[in-house]
Amino acid sequence: KTIIVWFKDDLRILDHPALYHAAMDGKVIPLYIHNETEDTNSEWYRLQAITAFQQQLQDKGATLVIKQGNPVQIIQEVVQAFNADAVYYHYQYGPESRKQDEQLMDCLSVPVRRFHGNVLTEPGTILNKQQKPYKVFTSFWKSLRSLPIAKPYPVPHKVDWYNGKASTVPHTKNSQLNMYWQAGEQQALYKWRRFLHDQIDDYQEYRDFPGVDATSRLSHHLSHGEISPKLIWHEAKDALEITSIENRLQHTMEESTETFLKQLVWREFAYHQLTFFPHIIDQPLQTKFQAFQWQKPDPMLLESWKKGLTGYPLVDAGMRQLLETGYMHNRVRMVTGSFLVKHLLIHWLEGQAWFSRLLVDHDLANNTMGWQWVAGTGFDSSPFFRIFNPVKQAEKFDPDGTYIQKWLPELRDLPIEHLHFPQKAPEEVLQDAGITLGKDYPHPIIEHQYARERALETFQQLKKEE
Ligand code: FAD
Repeated sequence: KTIIVWFKDDLRILDHPALYHAAMDGKVIPLYIHNETEDTNSEWYRLQAITAFQQQLQDKGATLVIKQGNPVQIIQEVVQAFNADAVYYHYQYGPESRKQDEQLMDCLSVPVRRFHGNVLTEPGTILNKQQKPYKVFTSFWKSLRSLPIAKPYPVPHKVDWYNGKASTVPHTKNSQLNMYWQAGEQQALYKWRRFLHDQIDDYQEYRDFPGVDATSRLSHHLSHGEISPKLIWHEAKDALEITSIENRLQHTMEESTETFLKQLVWREFAYHQLTFFPHIIDQPLQTKFQAFQWQKPDPMLLESWKKGLTGYPLVDAGMRQLLETGYMHNRVRMVTGSFLVKHLLIHWLEGQAWFSRLLVDHDLANNTMGWQWVAGTGFDSSPFFRIFNPVKQAEKFDPDGTYIQKWLPELRDLPIEHLHFPQKAPEEVLQDAGITLGKDYPHPIIEHQYARERALETFQQLKKEE
């Protein structure tokens, strides 16, 4: 038999159920279809990942067939061209992908086998006692934690690969992103295992501090499928079992690993929500928020937020990290998101769109859930009335200013006690640091107390209308 394996956001060979089964069933034609017209950072990374994957397959004597265009049409053409007997691939869960999937099933003349290759459990199968989807993360987590998670598939022992004329990878723009990212399955595995052996014990204590390198930095590898969550899950649990270190340390490691796995399960929770409630990509999960009185976005304010010129250093540092590298630390995603939605009262869809353009790790499910969480419109979200104070958040999570100084070089000479809010610094201190507010660094674009009260009033209005 000849089987087409359609690779999408699963650019790996370890724990790839579609590839594994295809290799058992016949000759494998690996196919990638480039169908993106938007010039996003995630798309830029995808092309780096494709190049790395093409090389990885080439080293195995295999040729990745790369096509451009509408997948439904292309797959039919490729089936014909190779006289293929079947098509195997992994599910995707966004509404567009599901529509495309249905179209494909309707028009393909050969059998299709689909697998849940990029998740721990099949989205939509974890239900509460009433057989309804969980709305609270902790209950979802407990339920998932008690389930046996299937073991990852090994790399198929022997594959009869297609080996033909090499395809060209679509051209990417030259970008400063090159400095920050290295794609490929080998890189993903290396990074994960190094994190597991050297860093995971510190995760619990430091994961909220953007100035500390304490998180796994695996999100882009996960969202482009260069590593699978099942592999991470099992290797983390196995590492706990074989570690025979001194008890107290073991305890820290256990707690820390558990916290890390919980974070990985937020990703599952996002897929769970997207599966049950696909409309959340542009509608609030809590329907009462349909009536929320968002401000018409003031282009100046929105631009200040996007460019990291709000006058609140933690917000600005985050937005500049995003602009420069295509990544932002999770704590700072929450603070910058909250600032847009609650301080500026700008609709969360604006933030979601900006993040989806710039995040190298962009993931429809995670980004949507993240924004609904920040806006207080989702299940188990930060309630709307809880409004982050961007100065207090900076003092708490970047106490020594490492993160702010890294991304806001203009504030580098400001003493630490004024770094979190230069507006309050005495004039002579600013002068000594060579900063003129309004010229070298902006005055705050909105006053915190005013913004907080306005947000709460707008929320009260919504409650009255309920
Ligand atoms: P770690 O802390 O090491 O976590 C390990 C993995 O668990 C991550 O790689 C990720 O896959 C998953 N994870 C961790 N935290 C979350 C979370 N809160 N929600 C869902 N999954 C999580 N993550 C994305 O992968 N893509 C996005 O587009 C995205 N957009 C976001 C938008 C907003 C407004 C917010 C608040 C969060 C968003 N996140 C997104 C979640 C989170 O910020 C990133 O996954 C995390 O910062 C990635 O860094 P890391 O790999 O070092 O994470």
